[in-house]
Amino acid sequence: MSVRILGPVTLCVIATLVGTLFVLVSTESTYAAAACGLVGLLATAVMYDSAVHGGIRGDLPVMSPPPMAPDYAVDLLDRPEIDALIEALPQPAFIVSAGCIARANRATLALLGRHVLGQDVRLAIRHPAVTQHLAGDSAGTEPVSMELVGIGAADQSWELRIAPLSEQRQIVLLTDQSARQAEARMRVDFVANASHELRTPLAGILGFIETLNDREAGNDVATRERFLSIMEGEARRMQRLVDDLMSLSRIEADKFRQPEQSVDLCALAQETAEVLARSGTPRAHDLALDLDLGCPLIRGDSGQISQLLHNLMSNALKYGRPGTPVAVTIQRDGEDAVRLAIADEGDGIAPEHLPRLTERFYRVDSSRSRAMGGTGLGLAIVKHIVERHRGRLRIDSVVGRGTTVSVMLPVPVDPEAPAEQRPRALVGTPVI
Ligand code: ADP
Repeated sequence: MSVRILGPVTLCVIATLVGTLFVLVSTESTYAAAACGLVGLLATAVMYDSAVHGGIRGDLPVMSPPPMAPDYAVDLLDRPEIDALIEALPQPAFIVSAGCIARANRATLALLGRHVLGQDVRLAIRHPAVTQHLAGDSAGTEPVSMELVGIGAADQSWELRIAPLSEQRQIVLLTDQSARQAEARMRVDFVANASHELRTPLAGILGFIETLNDREAGNDVATRERFLSIMEGEARRMQRLVDDLMSLSRIEADKFRQPEQSVDLCALAQETAEVLARSGTPRAHDLALDLDLGCPLIRGDSGQISQLLHNLMSNALKYGRPGTPVAVTIQRDGEDAVRLAIADEGDGIAPEHLPRLTERFYRVDSSRSRAMGGTGLGLAIVKHIVERHRGRLRIDSVVGRGTTVSVMLPVPVDPEAPAEQRPRALVGTPVI
């Protein structure tokens, strides 16, 4: 490319010629004319040199600028690194240019749809804050951050961060806040539920103490014995609750520590059934064990596996119909797992409750659960134990027929076996 704007070099040459002729005519001295010509040529040479190196534009091809200059000249949006950069961000990210979405990563397209590329940002995200900060003349020049609800799922909440890139351009980052908020809500609910569960028996105990302090009622032997027995029941309920809460927090604390003991699931099932029978658990004799004693050992925490067996057998005995068997089966489940199934013949659980059964304090029938000494934490504990053992939990139930709770636990990997023969760990979210 050549640019033609002005001709200082040409002018200089003409001035040199005219000057030389004038000196020759006026002085008639060839020396003086030669000196004038030389000075003129020198000036032309200097002029030419600065045109080449100093950027004076003349009848010359434009010289290459320093190496970095062309990169700066390329539009930001045409730079290939921009796509790679926003694609590297895990959350939805996009660039708005003059009020339209000019670049967007895959997470954005998955959230808002492919059609948003090139679209007016006000149509892509219909929210007053977007108009205020991203569109038109009102687009700000300061970074802003705000909470938005309603992008994606109706109740999904997002943090929207806008950082200006230039006067007409902004980069926008969307961070999903739903999980964090749900976690915070769960923590608050948990504390409220735990306090409520403890406060109820505590209030009962305090009421009975007050009554017994009354001279007349306290001296009546029959009343005193009845009240003391109720108080003992309430105190034991509180103790069970505190025990379950402690178990839950211990299991959670060990969440990322792999259990290391070799555990014989069949032996533990037999032991748990005996403990239940010895401790006078109602219907313990209804437990019917069908165990494949040839099952491989699992790698686990025997205390936690005993607790899992205890909670599931107790539930099946509690919620099964009196006089019906509770079938406890342990068998191999393919090459890489052992399966425990505990089936009762009870009222069953309606499908809408199934996904919530492992939440802390969730009960299908609260008064029935409390009447049976339940804390509402049994299945939450089971779920956490299964997760720590990298197993899977499944609850099948038919209303009016009964419930089967199955736990699949992975058998340990043999480090000597060739890779293709090694059983895989049952990693993943427990299935219910
Ligand atoms: P709980 O201490 O109340 O038994 P769990 O966490 O063990 O608490 O169980 C939660 C709820 O799930 C129970 O309150 C009960 O409603 C229901 N449930 C658990 N196991 C069974 C079962 N085998 N049959 C019917 N319902 C069950």
